[in-house]
Amino acid sequence: MNVVIGLEVHVQLATRTKLFCGCRADYFAAPPNTLTCPVCLGMPGALPVPNRKAVEYALRVALALGAKVQKNSRFDRKNYFYPDLPKGYQITQREVPLGVGGSLTFHTDGEERTVRIRELHLEEDAGKLIHTEKGALVDMNRCGVPLVEIVTEPDLRSPREARDFLRALRTLLRHMRVSGGDMEKGELRCDANVSISQDGGLGTKAEIKNLNSFRAVERALSAAAARQAALIARGERVVQVTYGWDEGRGELVLQRVKEEAHDYRYFPEPDLVPLELSSELLARVRAEMPELPWARRDRLIRQYELSPRDVDTLLADPELSDYFEQVAKGVGDGREAANWILSELLRYWREGPPVPAQELVQLILRVREGKVSRTNAKEVLEEAASSGKSLAKLLAGRALEQVSDEAELRRLAQEAIAAHPQAVADFRAGKTQALGFLVGQVMRKTKGRANAKKLSQILRELLAEG
Ligand SMILES: [Zn+2]
Repeated sequence: MNVVIGLEVHVQLATRTKLFCGCRADYFAAPPNTLTCPVCLGMPGALPVPNRKAVEYALRVALALGAKVQKNSRFDRKNYFYPDLPKGYQITQREVPLGVGGSLTFHTDGEERTVRIRELHLEEDAGKLIHTEKGALVDMNRCGVPLVEIVTEPDLRSPREARDFLRALRTLLRHMRVSGGDMEKGELRCDANVSISQDGGLGTKAEIKNLNSFRAVERALSAAAARQAALIARGERVVQVTYGWDEGRGELVLQRVKEEAHDYRYFPEPDLVPLELSSELLARVRAEMPELPWARRDRLIRQYELSPRDVDTLLADPELSDYFEQVAKGVGDGREAANWILSELLRYWREGPPVPAQELVQLILRVREGKVSRTNAKEVLEEAASSGKSLAKLLAGRALEQVSDEAELRRLAQEAIAAHPQAVADFRAGKTQALGFLVGQVMRKTKGRANAKKLSQILRELLAEG
């Protein structure tokens, strides 16, 4: 028995405006029903106009996946009643989608896997229903927001693989700069089909709708596959079903048992001419393609001598990869830059860098020149990153310059020796840890600014002189 999974992924394109009107598309934090117009509200007589940027973004995704671009695609009407789509139909591409074929290669459990893409097309999103105790509220802000839907062939073989595929796809979308790919914000959503194949044939599939986290994808698919396997083990018939997923309870929610296909009465959208892509447009989109993440992965490993694991962490977010390259160039050392960013800064990274790249460069350079101790530098960096205060100002405001002056260190060492005769006696009796105690005393006095290496050398000399 084999698990067979296929995905339909909906990606929200990060265009400024919606797919067929001039309304702003960044609805996430906007008050309900403030980003609407007659076109996206489906008022009679209002006519759609395609968003050129959305077409270009979808093309970028098609090219990145190696899909065949159909130069003459078209929009279709998918008719249905939905309370959050007042037009009573969705404009999508069914008969002639923008791209067909292609594939995505990714890593799962240390192995390389390739999943074929069946097709990808542009479509508009619906609004949102918000269920309250008093009833359902509707917010139309999302109506008409551009989506690209990517449909895979049923090539995935486990829930974990489906999750890893989706992660790799998100990395690609982010690097193509076409979507934030944030599942929590609904920028990346996915419907999944799962079936159990016996003797190589395809089984009856279960569909799970609207999965909106990587964890939900893996858990819901595991639950659906287990349910089917149990039916088969008991000798029962598997029927086609559609589930939702309750993440809080970790349970599948049966939505419908499907006996017949829905008739959406698709027909060519009469308000739009077919989408004709000129050779000039295609050439420009090709020329403007950002570096593909797998190409960038190879380059970062080679150019900066980083481990594949560190590079994968940096690549998860293209802003982070850019930031790394700025810092690496600024300090002239990729490994050192990666070290600071991954071990000290990453945990404060939210939407963007907590500290400007140039300020981090200055800090690393001062540590390298011995002007600031590593310990103090980490402290200041942490304060700047967690509080949002300027790193440059914190550095200027605090006495951090490392004490490396030979005479000054000698004076401090002599003071410590005079103040702690017991430690001196212990050291001379062979208890070497007493040296650490004396170093610690000087560090306390200088608030960590003494150059520890030079200091212990001087202390050793003075103690040996006796
Ligand atoms: Zn509108």
